[in-house]
Formats: sequence, C-alpha cells, structure tokens
Amino acid sequence: SKTAAEKAREGREFLPIHGYREELLKLIEENQVLVIVGETGSGKTTQIPQYLQEAGYTKRGKIGCTQPRRVAAMSVASRVAQEVGVKLGHEVGYSIRFEDCTSEKTVIKYMTDGMLLRELLIEPKLDSYSVIIIDEAHERTLSTDILFALVKDVAKVRPDLRLIISSATLEAKKFSEYFDSARIYLIPGRRYPVEKLFRKCPEPDYLETVIRTVVQIHQTEAIGDILVFLTGQEEIETVETNLKRRMMDLGTKGSEIIICPIYSNLPTPLQAKVFEPAPKGTRKVVLATNIAETSLTIDGVKYVIDPGYFKINSYNPRTGMESLLVTPISKASAAQRAGRSGRTGPGKCFRLYNIKDLEPTTIPEIQRANLASVVLTLKSLGIQDVFNFDFMDPPPENALLKALELLYALGALDEIGEITKVGERMVEFPVDPMLSKMIVGSEKYKCSKEIITIAAMLSVGNSVFYRPKNQQVFADKARMDFYEDTKNVGDHIALLRVYNSWKEENYSTQWCCEKFIQSKSMKRARDIRDQLLGLLNKIGVELTSNPNDLDAIKKAILAGFFPHSAKLQKNGSYRRVKEPQTVYVHPNSGLFGASPSKWLVYHELVLTTKEYMRHTTEMKPEWLIEIAPHYYKLKDIEDTRPKKTQR
Ligand code: ADP
Ligand code: MG
Repeated sequence: SKTAAEKAREGREFLPIHGYREELLKLIEENQVLVIVGETGSGKTTQIPQYLQEAGYTKRGKIGCTQPRRVAAMSVASRVAQEVGVKLGHEVGYSIRFEDCTSEKTVIKYMTDGMLLRELLIEPKLDSYSVIIIDEAHERTLSTDILFALVKDVAKVRPDLRLIISSATLEAKKFSEYFDSARIYLIPGRRYPVEKLFRKCPEPDYLETVIRTVVQIHQTEAIGDILVFLTGQEEIETVETNLKRRMMDLGTKGSEIIICPIYSNLPTPLQAKVFEPAPKGTRKVVLATNIAETSLTIDGVKYVIDPGYFKINSYNPRTGMESLLVTPISKASAAQRAGRSGRTGPGKCFRLYNIKDLEPTTIPEIQRANLASVVLTLKSLGIQDVFNFDFMDPPPENALLKALELLYALGALDEIGEITKVGERMVEFPVDPMLSKMIVGSEKYKCSKEIITIAAMLSVGNSVFYRPKNQQVFADKARMDFYEDTKNVGDHIALLRVYNSWKEENYSTQWCCEKFIQSKSMKRARDIRDQLLGLLNKIGVELTSNPNDLDAIKKAILAGFFPHSAKLQKNGSYRRVKEPQTVYVHPNSGLFGASPSKWLVYHELVLTTKEYMRHTTEMKPEWLIEIAPHYYKLKDIEDTRPKKTQR
C-alpha cells in the first residue's frame, strides 16, 4: 500500500491550481509583484512555493511565505515537507515566535507575518530571499499591513525579488492599486452549491444550539463531516465535553462521532488529527476557531455550523485598554465559512444568525490595535515619521500618539521621538514593549534571571495551572502553596516559584501532575526562557539573581508595567491610577478573595463580565514616582497613600 507521503504527492495533481501552474510561473517571471486570488483550498499556500522551487527560484534564495497564524504556518509547512518528501525543518521549515524549525538547508520557509517583520530588522533588504509571498492578505492583520509597506519598499531596491500577495476574497483591486497597479491573477476555483439554513438561537447560550444542531445533523443527514466555528479554546472545550456527554445520553457510546478540536494553542501532535479522514461508519466533527475560515482547509466537510462570532483584538486608545472581544463576523466571513461545506460536493451551512445583521467586512486590525510594538519596530527600522508611513489603511491618529507616548514613558524613545539605547535593546525581544522593558529594566534591579523566568511564564498564557472538574479543591490547594510564606505576594512571584520548584525537581513531569501544573506549558516556558536568556547575553545584560529581594523583582516588573497600576477603592474594587476605569482582581488570581492589597500592578486586562486584571502583584505607590517620574506625579498617589508609620 502507498505511504502517506506518496498519497500526499499524488493529491497535488487534483488541486484546482494544478492546471494553472505554467501560466502562474510565467506571470511571476514577468511581473515583480503579482496579486493572486483563489478559492480557499485551491492550493495557493501549499503549491505555489513548490512550483517556484521546481522552477529554480530557490537557487537564488529562499522562498518565504507568511501566515497570520502560527498553527497555519506549522501545519502547512508539515504538509509541504511531506509532499516534497523531506523531513520538516530541512528543505521545508517554519518559523514562529519562540520556535524556529528551519536549518541551513531550508529553502521553503513558512512563517508568521510577525516573524518576517522581525527578520526585516536583521536583514532590511531580505537578501536571503528570492520570493516573498504575503499569504492570507485578506486577513489584514497588523503585521501583514505593516509588511505591505515594507516589502513594497524592498522590491524597489531589489529588482530580482519577486513579491506575491495572495488572498482568498476579492479585495484584489485594493491590493493591486496599493502595489502600483500590480497584475491580478484569478485562480478559478471549484465550488459546489451550499444550502444556507437559518437556525433560531433562542437562549443566550448559543453553544446549546450548536450541540443540538450537531446531534440533529448526525441523526438525520447523509454521511459527511461537520465543521463548527467557535471563538476560542474555552468554547471549544465546553462544546467538546457537552457534546460527548450528549452522545452518551443518546446511547451512541460516542464512538460514531470523532471530535477534533483545532485552535492556536493546541499541542502540535493533536493538530495533525484534524486532517485524518474519519474511519468508515464515523463522522468527524471539527471544532475550530476561525483558523478554519481560510487558513486551513479540512477535506471532507459537508456541513458547517456557524454561530457567527469570532474573537478580535480590540484596543481603546483613550484608555489604553486592550481586550479580546467576541464580535459578530462580517458578511465576507459568513460567505467564506459557508463555502467550507461545498468544496468537494454540495454542502449545507447552518447559520445561527441573520445575515442581514452583519457588516460587509471586518475593520483591519491596524485600525483597532495597540500600535506600541509596531511603532517601536518602525523606529528601529529608521522610519522617523510614523504619521506619514505608507499605510494601506491608516490607523487613527490618536492610536499612533498613544503608542508614541507609551514608548516615551518606557524610555524607548526620546523627546524628539528617536529611538534610544533602551529602545534598541527592547527591540531585540520578540515581545510587547512593556514586557521587553521589564526584561531590559531588570538589569538595574539585579534580578534578570528571575525576570526572564517570569516573562517566560507570562508568555505561555494562562495555561500553567489546571483544575480538573472533580478535583478542584485539591488543585486550588496545591496552587496556593506557591503563594504561601509571604502572603499577598502576587501572581508574578507565584509563577516564578512554580518554575523554580519545577527546576529543583529536575523538570519532572510527575511533579507537575502532583501539583496540578501543565507540564507542556512548563516545557514551553523553559524553551522561551532559554531564548530570552540568549537575547540577554546578546545585548550584554549581565545575568544576576536576587531571589530573596522581592521588592527588587516587583520594581523590575513595574519598570515595564507601571502604566498597569491600580488602587483599591472603598467598595473592594480597584481603579486604574491614571484612568477613570474600575477593574477587578481576576477570579483565577491567587489574590482573589485574599485580604486586598492597596496597590496592584497587573499584567493585562481581560474583559468578560467585568474588566478583570490577570496576573496581579502588590506594590508600593512611591515606586511609581521613583520608576516613572514623567508618567506619575505625586498627586496621582497622594490621596490614598498609606500613613508614614507603616514603613
Ligand atoms: P489554499 O492556500 O488555496 O487555501 P492549501 O494549499 O492550503 O489551499 O490547501 C490545498 C490542499 O492541501 C487542501 O486540500 C488541504 O486539505 C490540503 N492540506 C493543507 N494542509 C494540510 C495538512 N497539514 N494536512 C493534510 N492536508 C493538508
Ligand atoms: Mg492558504
């Protein structure tokens, strides 16, 4: 029988793009910039780099292909490596933040758009590349939008470089105009009719409607897989659990359906499962974020269930507040999602919303995002006037202003907006400016080792502790051990303790199990920490350790996160020091329900039912003046300042 690699290779000929190979190669040769539009699943992402390699482009340099999402970069690279018949990381590889799976040999490189942006810092003319493909351009992520302008400039000084802008929807004209009337090439797709069915969603919890619809399809519709669009990991896990339970109740033993989740933090080995065909007699139910809208094509889907929501990153420049918001999708997205059911035959799409209520398109991220990181990158690239940067769609002016103000307060820019030495050091770290300032600032407080551990733990997200449903009491108890001794010390220090204890146990997986800690997250934290360590060495920061001086560690945290300070109010809630905004300690915080600290610094705000501070640590208000004298004045901290006698 055939190997998976053989099958994958043979499949190439059946993709819609196959018939257009020669024409495409000719157009790429003749046009420096080409805009390619094609139906999702037609083979753009997996095939074009291979065509280019086969045509000899890799003799002159690598082929780089950007993806807005890390899972897409990994998954597509792994597929292409299989098709080419090489080991992933050899000729075909990928690069995402904190994970470089490439080698000297790599000629086809998939990467997140953010990573290409970082490569430009080191290689401003992208000399090691012969072709750059900006893929999924229609997604209009912040990094992709910035890349548009930067690669457009590079192309001008590198006539040999080829630039391909590839997209799923018909924004082609806009892309073409931006790239000086670049040629547009449409790959005709195959598409089968999709019947759209409206499902009423009576209760506010649409997840129940989702589950009912899955069950109904399973019981009444012909064979074919189901794709459900959800907003994130939590929702996916809820639906997975409840759906399994429901199938059991129905007496199906749950074996007739195979549930495959796919979202960005899903561990790599589980990601592959989503592409495996369902065994005979079973039906696959894919629970996906909008990664499955255009980035990944999962074969065999015949039914789509679309509640009509996704999560977007939204930033309020007035308050400096950033949050992930569950938002209605656009008409364009609705059409894409429905289309996923009609790839190999007629499909059905169950919509839990009224299409008339949707906006035509989604606002590009650049117009609703925190721009601090991007502005610092641009400054480091020598772009002085960010207001007149060649944006495809310019961001609001006050968002740019707010970014400049923050970078100035952090010491990354000087009075005339030029990047400082501190700023240059901060740019080395592939993290947000506040976090990079915390790292760079740790030098002063002689605790760089502790701070990179905290930074690494914060970077793995909120997946360190877990609370199995039937053992929550034990999990919480185990967790509180890391908060003991110095009560109310805070989440940052607790994360540091978790890491150090794990290290003392020789990075034991068994220890993680006992302490209700996710060992996968810990391993990732260790990888990230190693990289941060390397970067600290690179910029010449001395490695220092000061494990018992908690004040020094807190001051270093505050050196980056001083804008995120909050003070206790009479009613038990908190108020941001510089903004008239009420915030709360997150229920997952070790400080939740503890005797409240008067002053807190927090890592981030998350908006669910309230504005919650995630990862909080207590601090002293006078540190704010000491650390950020330009930002805080005495009057900001005076009114509720503790009495002198406390010291
Ligand atoms: P496009 O970029 O035009 O949307 P792709 O090149 O991503 O299309 O997909 C082409 C085909 O490759 C699809 O049929 C898809 O199912 C398959 N494919 C892509 N990635 C994988 C993967 N990781 N595993 C299995 N099949 C894949
Ligand atoms: Mg693609």
